[in-house]
Amino acid sequence: MQSVDVAIVGGGMVGLALACGLQGSGLRVAVLEQTVPEPLDQDAPPALRVSAINAASEKLLTHLGVWSNIIARRVGRYHGMEVWEKDSFGRITFDDQSMGYDHLGYIIENALIHQALWEKAQQCKDVTLIAPAELQQVAWGENDAFLTLKDGTMLTARLVVGADGANSWLRNKADIPLTFWDYHHYALVATIRTEEPHQAVARQVFHNDGILAFLPLSDPHLCSIVWSLPPEQAKAMQQASDDEFNQALCVAFDNRLGLCEVQSERQVYPLTGRYARQFAGHRLALVGDAAHTIHPLAGQGVNLGFMDVAELITELRRLSREGKDIGQHLYLRRYERSRKHSAAVMLASMQGFRELFAGTHPAKKLLRDIGLKLADTLPGVKTQLLRQALGLNDLPEWLR
Ligand SMILES: Cc1cc2nc3c(=O)[nH]c(=O)nc-3n(C[C@H](O)[C@H](O)[C@H](O)COP(=O)(O)OP(=O)(O)OC[C@H]3O[C@@H](n4cnc5c(N)ncnc54)[C@H](O)[C@@H]3O)c2cc1C
Repeated sequence: MQSVDVAIVGGGMVGLALACGLQGSGLRVAVLEQTVPEPLDQDAPPALRVSAINAASEKLLTHLGVWSNIIARRVGRYHGMEVWEKDSFGRITFDDQSMGYDHLGYIIENALIHQALWEKAQQCKDVTLIAPAELQQVAWGENDAFLTLKDGTMLTARLVVGADGANSWLRNKADIPLTFWDYHHYALVATIRTEEPHQAVARQVFHNDGILAFLPLSDPHLCSIVWSLPPEQAKAMQQASDDEFNQALCVAFDNRLGLCEVQSERQVYPLTGRYARQFAGHRLALVGDAAHTIHPLAGQGVNLGFMDVAELITELRRLSREGKDIGQHLYLRRYERSRKHSAAVMLASMQGFRELFAGTHPAKKLLRDIGLKLADTLPGVKTQLLRQALGLNDLPEWLR
């Protein structure tokens, strides 16, 4: 029987970030991941799953010592953002220089962030990576939690952290109720070559009931798209011929970057909002998608998960320093309160956006166009919106 202080179920981006951040805290950590990651092929075309990484996550990844390794590879650094509503005057733009920043964020392949964190975790002497790990059972005792793997391996931990994604096995085993709702959208993702260069600007257009984001990659003519559409339309766009798809994409995107050509397969993901009723319990904490999932329209999902990690690292390091029991729910409440609040605010904002931009009623359209115009021109509004998007309004102590 192996014994650790923290057992993290799920070695995705969020679980690995937590493991790396606990190195040096005096806590022994195990990460249990069901799949062994494939080595990255630098010459392969860009992967379909990418994330817009904001300034707060950049700070976290820098603290973890992986940032320089990530940006030495293939990343899209962007300097501007533009959001508009199709067939209307509603539009808002942001650019780094006029707002006092030297960039607004990065578009990075998830696999690249994952690989850098995996390599880092392998070098951390207090972290044990167990992969592939097939979990069979978990039980919570007074002083320890007990994990059993299908191969018979047993593990005890003072705290078990669920970082096992949206359909978290651990959350289900702990019987934590989940509030969830269907966004009635599927996200279609693909890589697109554009006739005109993207000029390092992330663009998003709201059209009827669709939301289309063009995220600039390192190649000036390549963008990763996230196109959120009602399920039937998303499936139709996935199955359309390349020509039909390219044409529909250009129209939806107002021809903003000239002709578009799809360069990859097209994948679709059903979008569901999720909010766990508890983010912590007796010898239990949830982080990342295991605790919450949101609509990708603002590209904030993993950024939110990384801030869970920063907050939990702050708390666990403090408890360990003070010699307290890291698995006591009483001590985990501070983490839970603060991250439930941030997730609730984010979920409510995404829901607000979804509802505001749904429907074509002329009065509602006029209202939102005026709103966008005002936000674009009123002094101070853009600064606040940008700080929120960059994650700088709500930085956990470890990153300040
Ligand atoms: C289309 C789309 C676009 C997005 N774009 C952005 C964006 O631009 N910016 C952004 O911030 N976010 C974005 N997101 C959200 C982001 O992808 C997720 O929030 C993020 O991947 C969650 O990371 P995670 O580590 O919490 O979960 P996951 O990535 O789901 O990782 C969970 C890990 O746990 C492992 N696991 C699962 N079950 C078990 C088990 N029983 N035992 C052991 N291991 C297990 C899995 O193998 C996996 O490695 C987007 C999401 C979608 C769908």
